[in-house]
Amino acid sequence: MGNCSEKRRSVPELFGSSVFNDDVMQERLPKDVYQSLRKTIDQGKDLDLNVANAVASAMKDWAVEKGTTHYTHWFQPLNGITAEKHDSFISPTSDGRVIMQFSGKELIKGEPDASSFPSGGLRATFEARGYTAWDPTSYAFVKGDSLYIPTAYCSYSGEVLDKKTPLLRSMEDLNVQALRILRILGDDRTNRVIPTVGAEQEYFLIDRKLYEQRKDLIFCGRTLFGVKAPKGQELEDHYFGAIKPRVSAFMKELDEELWKLGILAKTKHNEAAPAQHELAPIFATTNIATDHNQLTMETMKNVAARHGLVCLLHEKPFYGVNGSGKHNNWSLSTDGGKNLLDPGKSPNENMQFLLFLAAMVQGVDEYQDLLRISVASAGNDHRLGAHEAPPAIISIFLGDELTGILEAIENDRAYDSMECQKLETGVHVLPDLNKDTTDRNRTSPFAFTGNKFEFRSLGSAISIACPNIMLNTIMAEELRRFADQLEQTADLKTDVLQLVKKVMQKHKRIIFNGDGYSEEWVQEAKRRGLLNLRTTVDALPRYLDQKNVELFANHKIYTEAEMEARYETILEEYAKTLNIEALTMIEMVRQDILPSVSAYIAKLSNAILSKRSVSQDIPCATELSLVKKLSFLADSAYEKLEALEAVLADPKTVSVNVLTVSTYYRDAVIPAMDALRADVDQMEWHTASSYWPYPGYEDLMFQI
Ligand code: ADP
Ligand code: MG
Repeated sequence: MGNCSEKRRSVPELFGSSVFNDDVMQERLPKDVYQSLRKTIDQGKDLDLNVANAVASAMKDWAVEKGTTHYTHWFQPLNGITAEKHDSFISPTSDGRVIMQFSGKELIKGEPDASSFPSGGLRATFEARGYTAWDPTSYAFVKGDSLYIPTAYCSYSGEVLDKKTPLLRSMEDLNVQALRILRILGDDRTNRVIPTVGAEQEYFLIDRKLYEQRKDLIFCGRTLFGVKAPKGQELEDHYFGAIKPRVSAFMKELDEELWKLGILAKTKHNEAAPAQHELAPIFATTNIATDHNQLTMETMKNVAARHGLVCLLHEKPFYGVNGSGKHNNWSLSTDGGKNLLDPGKSPNENMQFLLFLAAMVQGVDEYQDLLRISVASAGNDHRLGAHEAPPAIISIFLGDELTGILEAIENDRAYDSMECQKLETGVHVLPDLNKDTTDRNRTSPFAFTGNKFEFRSLGSAISIACPNIMLNTIMAEELRRFADQLEQTADLKTDVLQLVKKVMQKHKRIIFNGDGYSEEWVQEAKRRGLLNLRTTVDALPRYLDQKNVELFANHKIYTEAEMEARYETILEEYAKTLNIEALTMIEMVRQDILPSVSAYIAKLSNAILSKRSVSQDIPCATELSLVKKLSFLADSAYEKLEALEAVLADPKTVSVNVLTVSTYYRDAVIPAMDALRADVDQMEWHTASSYWPYPGYEDLMFQI
């Protein structure tokens, strides 16, 4: 591979060429083995060890032909990134040689020594070791020298230590409840309901040589200091603008790498901020979309490196321009390929749509806190509510038309629209909802966009597993309650309308079609009693509220202990992130910035002295003023530096209670960091760029 004589492969040839997908399975597995495996994939049936052995052997042969020497169980621990440990296929023979071997047992189960992954205390309480278990619903693939096997990760006593297991559980649970609703509506044909996801990924690209000169980018993935460039995104000339050749070459190779991995990379464009871009895939089932989003983020970083670039996935790399997020487009699909959030044309389809819509309205209102929590991180706190991303307040955008229809049902009226007639049965025929009327508002955290919901609060760096676990479980819960009621019904159509009406009466406060960035909305949301959980620390304690613990326990997604572990992990990560940022700031100021400013002050002072030695008449006002200004600023910055050090030395940073620690980081450490940054940015502004120790915002954002 990779030699120059290799002829260019067409995209269809390239697509999935690194994946042990259905085609490869059909081609390489004996028929009965293939059929058993298919049953495992489609219906979750247990896999017989003989079958597993046959699959493993075929996988190994295929992977070795592709030049691999190792395999790895690939899993998704609680830190939101992926983990892998590689074992070679070699197995010694009696005559001192080796053969390449891979057994069914090795395929199905692995035991990574994973004791340093965050577990929120779970492993300590239960069982030290964890094991990984093959997830046959996500195809194995080849990357570098290894065969990658997607796996779930649990402890021996069954505690879930990863993000995939609860995601798979939530998908299964949602399937059960959605099928109940479909049966009630008379659908006997659908066998499976699958949540689908398309995750639009934003990122920044900067030059690697410049990146390597900034400790903040290296350690924190974002700039901790920096004066805004004279030009930001105000001219709106970057969004959808022509893509520069170097970026274009990166994107081309990224697409090819993703296609090889069977990832449906579809759309690429420039985003709002200078140096910011976006990639959107065609949607897939939630589990695969989650794996693929992880692979996409990783591939972005790897391909960038090959182009002398660095891909920044942090939510807020630069102050003063937009940060990066991720839009999680979510819908429900049947095994027959129908989208259950498609309003449809017939009254029956309309009724089905209204039920799923009402379930989401009720769910988002009742579990606003969980949706907010699912996107909580130190990085994302910079964006939510900062007029560049949705507010921290969760609400649903439905558009005027759909809201009008729901209000008509609430008030027992026909919807007042030309195309909309009331049928005798009382079931409204919905007008065609054109995409335009539902998609114009980009300020909502959760928008209905024609045939899917778009959850827009996600940060660019997070795993999409958690938001989707929430969406699936919330939806499953509301559908369960609807199904419990409707299974008793004598008059389905009337009862469905009654149900929608009740949902509207109780939960319409969550519907908001206006400007989510405005101050008025903050006030209005407060009047409506909606939550405004501004920071990670405000949000997380709600995770353990009784109603949430019950939700996850009832649906068998998490036990209370597993939830506590997640709560601990997220808050710990928040505090650790801020601690690294604060320490990086201190090092940069002490070792690079103050010495540089001092050198510049000395240079200016020498200039004054030499001018004066020539003649007392030569004016020195500029140098004098700068020396004064910078000297005051340097003293002030030094004070702030010491203040930040003092804040970090406080015993509260090492309290055993994670909430105490993270609250302290929010309330004491962040303000101390902000104060230091303010002085440093002033110094940067007044210092000659040749003296400043780091490349500035202009270099970073405008030099590709
Ligand atoms: P935009 O948000 O830029 O208007 P689109 O509406 O084209 O973009 O779609 C955005 C994303 O939504 C894409 O990743 C697309 O695959 C995904 N998407 C479209 N339909 C569905 C669906 N039924 N389920 C989940 N995701 C979907
Ligand atoms: Mg979008």
